Amino acid sequence: MKRNLLLTPGPTQVPPQLCEVLGRPIIHHRTPQFQENIKQVVEGLKEVFQTKNDIYILTSSGSGAMEAAVVNLLSPGDKAIAVDGGKFGERWVELCQTYKANTVVHKVQWGKAPTAAEIKSLLAAHPDTKAVFITLAETSTGVTPDVKAIGEAVKNTPAVLVVDAVSGLAVQEIKTDEWHCDVVVSGSHKGFMLPPGLAFVSASPKAIELINKCTSPRYYFDLRECKAAMAKIDTPFTPAIGVMIAMVESLNMIKKEGLNNMFARYAHLARAVRAGCAAIGLELFPDPACSTNVLTAVKVPAGIDGEKLTKTMRDTHGITFAGGQDHLKGKVIRMAHMGALDEYDILTGLACLEKVLHQMGHKFELGAALTAAQKVLNSKG
Ligand SMILES: *Cc1c(COP(=O)(O)O)cnc(C)c1O
Repeated sequence: MKRNLLLTPGPTQVPPQLCEVLGRPIIHHRTPQFQENIKQVVEGLKEVFQTKNDIYILTSSGSGAMEAAVVNLLSPGDKAIAVDGGKFGERWVELCQTYKANTVVHKVQWGKAPTAAEIKSLLAAHPDTKAVFITLAETSTGVTPDVKAIGEAVKNTPAVLVVDAVSGLAVQEIKTDEWHCDVVVSGSHKGFMLPPGLAFVSASPKAIELINKCTSPRYYFDLRECKAAMAKIDTPFTPAIGVMIAMVESLNMIKKEGLNNMFARYAHLARAVRAGCAAIGLELFPDPACSTNVLTAVKVPAGIDGEKLTKTMRDTHGITFAGGQDHLKGKVIRMAHMGALDEYDILTGLACLEKVLHQMGHKFELGAALTAAQKVLNSKG
């Protein structure tokens, strides 16, 4: 059987111990047994989110949690600031516009991060803003902004800060409470190493106030219903039961490794990948000053077809990288270092990248990426 190594920024590899849990017979969700699962998942998530706020569990992909945030916080005509510096920032904009918010779009060059100063001046120009939407790890470009500083800029205004942490949570640091992030959204299929199916939304008291005042129609994603259900240790609808049960195990794995050790592991892998890429002439796409450890996005060398590169790696060798999105299609490749990956997965990915790039005519010394990555991996992290 051919290998199927996912070095993609979602879905990520599901480790064998989680596959085993996912393969168990289903149980009913309106049972004390499942209530125990809900309790453990919420408790575990609070540790990973680093919050004492409510956390609601939805059955959807990550975008469902984003939609839930928008439809529960914004009434038609409400003003929102949405940062658009990539595909996922653009999703915030599209969601805000879909629900008829008066949307102030803060365009940021792809590969650059929005700054707290920019958010501060936007809030000063738009004091009636209800919510500011940002992205912890902009997966399309590999950028992370200074969320802590942005939180400082938003906290003393009437606006809530909403953070898309779908790819960033459990991979890089986010301190929901300390950084004043009122709403943080995430999902099961990135840092949590599970299939898609569950999405999470945290809500601060400031956010809950807005949720209760909001006049937008909502049904499946009504966070008021989630809150009421959560008080009874229940969910409003049938959740992704299997993913939920496996989530308990995923959270145990995270707890066992320790958040900070995990962040350090990903940072170490990211350094190795970047050193490897640099050694074979692949330039980092995002500004290194604001690049995230969730993934490495590099420019495809001139004369090389990036789409063919990732297709060959996947179809011939069973190793999946992500390509570029939108205007970066064919121009960048993205290698994730998140979830159940270790140094040998990274080295396998780089070896395959070298092989296919070499076959496609890119000039470099074979083994250079592996040597450079090995040097980093064998240094103290
Ligand atoms: C993956 C991802 C999402 C959600 O995508 P879904 O396909 O709906 O799960 C949202 N934001 C970011 C930054 C992501 O990486």
